[in-house]
Amino acid sequence: MPQGRPAALLDLSWLQAAVPALAAISEVVGPSFSLPSLQDLISRPQVRLQQRLTDQLHKFRFNELFNSLPPDSTARARLLSCQGPLSSVWLSAIPSSDSKTLNNFQYRHAVAGCLGIALPHATVSQRCICGGEVDKFGDHFYVCHTGRERVTRYTNMRNLFVRILAEADVPFNVEVSLHSLGITLPDDNPNNQRMDIYCVIDGSDYLLDVTVAHPCRPDNSPIPFHRTVNRHGAQLPGGKAAQLAEKDKIDKYRPTTQAAGFRFVPLAAETFGRWGEKTMDFSRCSPSESLAPHRFPRRRTELFERASSTIGASFCPSS
Ligand SMILES: [Zn+2]
Repeated sequence: MPQGRPAALLDLSWLQAAVPALAAISEVVGPSFSLPSLQDLISRPQVRLQQRLTDQLHKFRFNELFNSLPPDSTARARLLSCQGPLSSVWLSAIPSSDSKTLNNFQYRHAVAGCLGIALPHATVSQRCICGGEVDKFGDHFYVCHTGRERVTRYTNMRNLFVRILAEADVPFNVEVSLHSLGITLPDDNPNNQRMDIYCVIDGSDYLLDVTVAHPCRPDNSPIPFHRTVNRHGAQLPGGKAAQLAEKDKIDKYRPTTQAAGFRFVPLAAETFGRWGEKTMDFSRCSPSESLAPHRFPRRRTELFERASSTIGASFCPSS
């Protein structure tokens, strides 16, 4: 650009109108973000400025929203769970297959769940089969051990991982008795003597156990344990429910299974789609780097789009 041209451009009235907008943005993003002057903006390219600026604005909006919510509240727990890495991929997944498609009913429930909007009781029972009253956000459905919703969500997730293993030509078996693998847990609870998935990947024996944890409970619940759950779920950076679920599984299974020569991996997610770190690692390069990206999953994003859509669809109690 010839000398003197930028100065002439600054005289344009429509460009002058951008000056207050620039000042307003500068005030929002704060002094830590060095926003170029209008003259700099028109005289030379600013590499990735839009992306950096958008990131900063999103951080500001998030902090503003988070700080406006009560400490230890379900709203904070929900927000942190929804904004975890790859947790809301169902919103952007192209519905190119059944496993990435939510019907209208499921979509409405998923959006309501993530935004904290009361579920439409015209279509959802207000009373669980356990006899308990279902709160307006449906938290009861996601934690009840008697109602079928929690089990349905878990089953959908397990079946999805099974399908993905099958597509990757990984030999597997489901609901495997640990005794049949020569493993005996010190805990003699019969429910703990089975493993969701046994598979063989690159010659190594893997045991995978799926779990979906709910990060919040009704704020006004009289049960003290529920307040603890909310406190955990509302802590930055979030993901505590999935992390604790992974820890529970590891404490229970890893020492004994590892001693027997198996690799144990918990596959944990939160109801709002936030993933446990072990699941993220497993999809990234574990259990073997040779699995990614050509076998399991074919594409990491594809895996999370499908898994996230499965969780999204499971918000709907009838799914
Ligand atoms: Zn119930």
